[in-house]
Amino acid sequence: MSACVEATHRIAEIALGALKKIGLAAIPRNFELWYAHAEGRSPELSRAIQVATDTDGKISQEAADELFKEHIQHVDLSRDVIDLVSRFQAEISDLFDAIEQTGENTSGHHRKLSDLSVQLRQTTEEYPAVGKLLEGVITVAQDMRVENEKLEHRLADSANEISTLQRNVENIQAEAMKDSLTGIANRSMFDKSLAQQLVEAVSSNEPLSLVMADIDNFKKFNDKWGHQTGDQVLRLVAEVMNANVKGQDVLARYGGEEFAIVLPGTSLNHAHMLADRIRTAIESRRLKKRRTKEDLGVITMSMGVGAHREGDTTETIIERADECLYAAKARGRNLVVNEEDIKEDGENKRGSAA
Ligand code: GH3
Ligand code: MG
Ligand code: MG
Repeated sequence: MSACVEATHRIAEIALGALKKIGLAAIPRNFELWYAHAEGRSPELSRAIQVATDTDGKISQEAADELFKEHIQHVDLSRDVIDLVSRFQAEISDLFDAIEQTGENTSGHHRKLSDLSVQLRQTTEEYPAVGKLLEGVITVAQDMRVENEKLEHRLADSANEISTLQRNVENIQAEAMKDSLTGIANRSMFDKSLAQQLVEAVSSNEPLSLVMADIDNFKKFNDKWGHQTGDQVLRLVAEVMNANVKGQDVLARYGGEEFAIVLPGTSLNHAHMLADRIRTAIESRRLKKRRTKEDLGVITMSMGVGAHREGDTTETIIERADECLYAAKARGRNLVVNEEDIKEDGENKRGSAA
């Protein structure tokens, strides 16, 4: 038997002996009461038993029951209550944890904000000076907002001015690219376009042709009818030429009474056909003096056509088209000559010389 079991038996014997001595039945509640007393579980209980048995060493069952209610039942009840409360507290704490975890995700900011506002209210109530400081901060923030709005308006005005300036610059740029007499592209625009289209032709492997056109015997025309009338003819020529080009084609006044057309994606043959269409359109116009309706006769043009070759620069392709133009002049004017014609011509000459 273990020491612990032996001790309980001893206590039980003492309790039973005591019950016999004071004349109480060995029923469970009496036994439990005297067992607790023998064990020395509660000094209050032991004191109460001593007081109750003091006079004659005996105790009535009613008095014993009172002691039982007071010292055994009550203690157990208290224990139960304590257990219940701590269980309740544990559950409440679990519940709070759960609430906090869900709330953290959905309304974490909101909670922080409301915490902050509660803190602020408490702080300003406790420390009025902090309230004044906060008022100051809010005033500065409002002033800043007003300043920001003013700045925004100024920025919007500046943005409008900038876009107006931008449009002006674009207009000036467009004007700078135009020939003032005829309204078509000027020499500078021609140079840019040709250079650009040469690069394009190399990378796309698409054909590119160039037409150089010059009014025939224009000096004589000017001499006869005057420079002003000459200018009107230049305008008319530009107009007729312009009516025959489209899309990416660039018609330009190359200088004086010379014109040029850059023709991207156009073969030598097609460029020749287009040039000849323009030549025909010009020669078919019967010119009349605007005011007097006097007959000015006919204007004709000579043209040379070159096509892009590997290794070409703007200079080399212009040179070949020019060569063709001079060939057209040499062959009697009002004519279109392309670089294939010149080659054939050269070959024929070589052939007849052989
Ligand atoms: P060709 O058939 O060989 O081209 O003979 P051409 O007389 O046309 O050639 P030339 O180069 O000898 O003369 C060009 C003339 O073009 C000289 C000038 O009077 C005239 N001209 C050049 N620019 C202008 C211009 O802006 N306005 C007017 N009205 N005439 C111009
Ligand atoms: Mg000329
Ligand atoms: Mg000329």
